[in-house]
Amino acid sequence: MSLTVEQQPRADVQSAVATALLEQAIAKSAAPPLGPALVARGLGPYRGYGEMLATMRRLIDKGYRPHHLGRSVEGEPLLALHLGREASSASAPGGKTERGTLYRTTVILAGVHPNEWIGVESCFALLEQLLAHELGDRSVIAIPIVNPDGIRRVDRNLRAGRRRFVRHNARGVDLNRNFDESWGKLGLVQRLLRGLFNPGSRAASEPEVEALAHHLSPVRVERAVSLHSFGGAVLFPLASSTARVHDAAEHEAWASRIAHAVDPRRPYAARSCARWARGVTAGGLELDWFHARHGALSLLVECSRGGRSMRPSRLLEPFGWFNPPRVAAESAAIATALLPFVRGLEL
Ligand SMILES: [Zn+2]
Repeated sequence: MSLTVEQQPRADVQSAVATALLEQAIAKSAAPPLGPALVARGLGPYRGYGEMLATMRRLIDKGYRPHHLGRSVEGEPLLALHLGREASSASAPGGKTERGTLYRTTVILAGVHPNEWIGVESCFALLEQLLAHELGDRSVIAIPIVNPDGIRRVDRNLRAGRRRFVRHNARGVDLNRNFDESWGKLGLVQRLLRGLFNPGSRAASEPEVEALAHHLSPVRVERAVSLHSFGGAVLFPLASSTARVHDAAEHEAWASRIAHAVDPRRPYAARSCARWARGVTAGGLELDWFHARHGALSLLVECSRGGRSMRPSRLLEPFGWFNPPRVAAESAAIATALLPFVRGLEL
């Protein structure tokens, strides 16, 4: 541990506060396990929102340090889990930060889009796997539920048997158009479907994005991965344009390695985001923000090929489009494929 004697109590207090807020949220969202009801409907045995929070609590017992970033629109706690060296020197005496001296950090995001639960499950699988490895000088910061209000809404819909497509936060904003990089730049398709891809009133207008950006501002993010679904793709910058980034070759190599590792028989696509989804170039994505603002190697994984099925019970079920029924196997494969990148290994 690198904290000085003066910093230690402060770090302990902030961890205790974050843990207390998490426990409060767990108590508030207590509900029967969601998995059995989903399985009965031909969907996978996914954890509900309260169970996701309880998983975060268990990860704290196993060694992750919780940080409270702020509150969502509806007041849910926004929480990060840290592992390895303390990434930020923001709590150093005088509040001075020296970027050059900070530990290299990998950031993992999940749950940006509320329907994409295989991403959250893959994040948890990855955090479990990481515990078995020595991180050396690297620090890992995970935010497994970027959009808690959206996830809660999907949880409520699933429990009530409502088949809804949910993409936004509680104010109707697509958080993955709200980041402060090429904000508001929307391709033709996205302009036509502006309600669906609502970027918010300004960059980082949403508390979820603002809190995340603030928490990471003193951190030297060297690698970042955001877990979405579906489509089976490992995407890299840019999303806002088909132009090639200066470090495209390194991105391409990592994306391709991970794409093959997830599914050797039928590798995922490995492409720049704008080239993968032609016609839907957009600004305000976390993918471009990590690359432009932090200089990070930045990846967005569209986890799994979804749970598309001709079974009538699943055909009209949006949750089933985004989330495969084989939760454990798919999330473990994604976690294992991402592990070398997240640990900071070289190609
Ligand atoms: Zn998504």
